[in-house]
Amino acid sequence: MSLLEVRDLHVTYANGAQAVRGVDLTVDAGQKLGIAGESGCGKSTLALALLRLLPAGSKVTGQILLDGEDVLAMKWGRLRAVRWAGASIVFQGAMHSLNAVHRIGDQIAEPIRLHRTTPPERVKARVRELLQQVGLPASRAKAYPHELSGGQRQRVMIAMALACAPDLIIADEPTTALDVMIQAQILRLIEELVARENLGLIMISHDLAVLADTCDRLTVMYAGRVVEDGPARQVYDDARHPYGKALSAAFPRIGDPASRFAPQGLPGDPPDPSDLPSGCTFHPRCPVALDSCASEDQELVDAGASWQAACVHVKAADAPAATVGSER
Ligand code: ADP
Repeated sequence: MSLLEVRDLHVTYANGAQAVRGVDLTVDAGQKLGIAGESGCGKSTLALALLRLLPAGSKVTGQILLDGEDVLAMKWGRLRAVRWAGASIVFQGAMHSLNAVHRIGDQIAEPIRLHRTTPPERVKARVRELLQQVGLPASRAKAYPHELSGGQRQRVMIAMALACAPDLIIADEPTTALDVMIQAQILRLIEELVARENLGLIMISHDLAVLADTCDRLTVMYAGRVVEDGPARQVYDDARHPYGKALSAAFPRIGDPASRFAPQGLPGDPPDPSDLPSGCTFHPRCPVALDSCASEDQELVDAGASWQAACVHVKAADAPAATVGSER
């Protein structure tokens, strides 16, 4: 059984915005899945939906199976436990997530005390252990958030995410607010922890280069859908979907926050999820769109070994192989 299996997930916000439209994905223990796409493509909505953290009034359908248990069907008490001990989220911009008036040791201890994952007399030792795990001296437990650098604060956020020993970590743009050197250190730290603890990782970024460097698999989202999914390096080097191609061309270098909003060579913006274009939602920006793309939507089709893309050109290229497959 997979650690996480998402089936046909749809999220519609109260204002009618269809932010996630039929996403399927799987993460196994020890696997690192990257989710890429420009701002507004539905990545954070997907991450928040996984732990039911969306604003009230959002409509969510489909299945989110965490260790086989459907998150969407969980009662409140069970959900609260799962949010720390099953899966936890690391957000970008640690300064906003940490409480300015509490020492960081107390903030790391809070979920541990709340969920009683460690006996009360061992909580302090556990906090020290977590700080050391993320490369901070145990003495920093006494510090307030403003006494730490941006990179150190992000390490604290990671320690908090690890506090109740979850099986899955969801990291949403965990390094975007940091400069390039620190970004690389934090990415290495996440990789090490995931390998050591055999965790599943979902890392979300607008930056394909960061994900290709860190993850095993790469999923590219556009307008709330998965448009490409495959082995990370291969998708980065040789994307089959024109959107994946444009994204990888936009990020030649790791860590360029400016390109988040305007990838080079890709005109326009992702569509408004309350007013989606007909046919393939990428067609208005697509350099290789055919007339038919304005009316015909595309499903994911095989684009290589464990590699899929939703594009009419991939479908055409794969047609003979697909026919052979269906005859078997
Ligand atoms: P990403 O993480 O890829 O930047 P988001 O998931 O944040 O994308 O947003 C996807 C779309 O949903 C965007 O068009 C955004 O404006 C919209 N959206 C996000 N939050 C809300 C909300 N609370 N209500 C309505 N629309 C929202």
